[in-house]
Amino acid sequence: MDQLELLWQYQQVDIEVERYEREMRANPNRQKLLKQRDFILDQQTVVKRIEGEVTVMADRLEALQDEVVRLRDAVSETAAALDAAPPQALSGVRENVSAFQKLLESITRYEAELHKMRKDAENRDKQQHEARVRAAKVKGEFDQLKAAYDTEYKDQQGALDKLKAQAQKAAEGITPAMLDHYNTIKRHSMPPMARLNEDRCGGCNMSLPSVVLHKIRSGSVTVECENCGRIILVRQE
Ligand SMILES: [Zn+2]
Repeated sequence: MDQLELLWQYQQVDIEVERYEREMRANPNRQKLLKQRDFILDQQTVVKRIEGEVTVMADRLEALQDEVVRLRDAVSETAAALDAAPPQALSGVRENVSAFQKLLESITRYEAELHKMRKDAENRDKQQHEARVRAAKVKGEFDQLKAAYDTEYKDQQGALDKLKAQAQKAAEGITPAMLDHYNTIKRHSMPPMARLNEDRCGGCNMSLPSVVLHKIRSGSVTVECENCGRIILVRQE
């Protein structure tokens, strides 16, 4: 049998293999599992993101707490200094009052920020907990469905292996170069071979130039459609 005829027969099995693989990918349980997996990964991303935020917040919280301690110490020191040497003039009293006010304002501001941060931290804890709960719930469903799908997949894989073995058998006698060529075309046009349909390519339906038609009919060389790149087969009747 001629190489192109062999390749054509191989293509029939190859189409079956491709079709079955598509069917396997479209399996509803597989699709559902992929969605659940993405959801679990999303929740893990949320947990990670919050962890990062909490680390940054913890650093800031520590700095703020140190700052408040420092300011309180400053207040005590200023008060002690005043006790030891009370100001004699009114201007001195005013200066001291103003310094106290500034220190107290800073303390109030920092404490407000601390309060807000503690609230934020609480919220994040809650969000993190919720994300973990959501992920755990879906993980349970995922594991159950996965067990069912694994059995299904094993059967499908068995059927696919059979088809692939058929394809391998059909490829016997075809030169490796020819198969390579077929697979190269397959990357952009599936199926890679087309029959000649009157003077048109059976794959893309473009009219073939008469020069090409002549080459095909002389049967001497492998001809490809200039439009889609498929190998054109002329059935020898
Ligand atoms: Zn074509």
